[in-house]
Amino acid sequence: MSVLLIAEHNNKEVRPFTLNAITAASQMDGDVHVILIGNNCGDVAKSLSEMPAVKKVLHAEAAHYENYLAENFSPLVVKVSENYSHIVSSANTFGKNLMPRIAANLDISQVSDITKVISADTFLRPIYAGNAFATVKSTDVKKCITIRPTSFEPCETSGGSAPIEKIDATEEFALSKFIKREEVKSDRPELGTARVVVSGGRGMQNGENFKLITDIADKLNAAIGASRAAVDAGYISNEHQVGQTGKVVVPDLYIAVGISGAIQHLAGMKESKIIVAINKDGEAPIFSVADYGLEADLFEALPQFLEELNKLNS
Ligand code: FAD
Repeated sequence: MSVLLIAEHNNKEVRPFTLNAITAASQMDGDVHVILIGNNCGDVAKSLSEMPAVKKVLHAEAAHYENYLAENFSPLVVKVSENYSHIVSSANTFGKNLMPRIAANLDISQVSDITKVISADTFLRPIYAGNAFATVKSTDVKKCITIRPTSFEPCETSGGSAPIEKIDATEEFALSKFIKREEVKSDRPELGTARVVVSGGRGMQNGENFKLITDIADKLNAAIGASRAAVDAGYISNEHQVGQTGKVVVPDLYIAVGISGAIQHLAGMKESKIIVAINKDGEAPIFSVADYGLEADLFEALPQFLEELNKLNS
């Protein structure tokens, strides 16, 4: 049995969730080989080879692999997968785009978003927006698995010396072309990997009031999150949305301000290590998952909180 892990990277460095995926892959009872598909990404191959959990790096280079396109990546993974019992990637936008295409091409059922490896063919995954867990046994000869990155610790990144094997690229896919990438640049930590997240909900009332959240996030070096109601109302852009249809976050500290705690929101943050909720309604469901709850008007509580943080910093 051997496990093929698809690395996510930007040709310069490995994306953080790949480290969590390697940890999950190493629990599937087989050697973990990582497939790296890119262009001029020798440094990435080297850093992957230094991860002790990785037993081999398969490295493919081509100009049409410069920018990630599932249509170009999947034929190569399908070709290489012949020798593997498991194909694994993260259940983020990268894996959610790529893996169904691979599973369909191999005619096998994908097991998505697993949070625990029970054995080589049995996995735990959340269902009903995280309100229940299903134990899923895959009877396919080959398994296609996406893992929920935040449920696994990142793997060690040094001390290993796996061989790097160059493999041939597959042909460029004729019908889809990469045109351009538009990214929101921010000095803040990325929402999906931040250690502290401060989120605002409909209770913020408008976009300007989100400054109260931003000021606190600045002090705590935090990412900014939001409920879907806040996003839908236009207070903040949708890349900040946390929840079932937004991002799943597991920071050390999650501060929910003016958020009621609907199950779809909880699905994205309830695994956070410490949850603080500020809400003026003592009956709000967010308090049922909060480690610390403050029943207060946010327009009074947040300025006081900021004042205390300023004192700590001065
Ligand atoms: P509300 O539920 O309106 O809560 C606002 C809260 O602010 C209230 O608890 C109120 O007491 C409090 N408040 C108001 N004023 C103040 C004040 N001055 N001081 C303190 N507290 C105050 N939601 C998500 O968040 N993420 C998702 O990914 C998501 N996906 C969804 C997918 C589907 C298929 C569906 C059907 C829904 C989804 N939702 C999602 C929406 C979800 O059901 C809720 O509607 C949403 O989370 C509510 O956002 P909210 O808590 O900000 O707003």
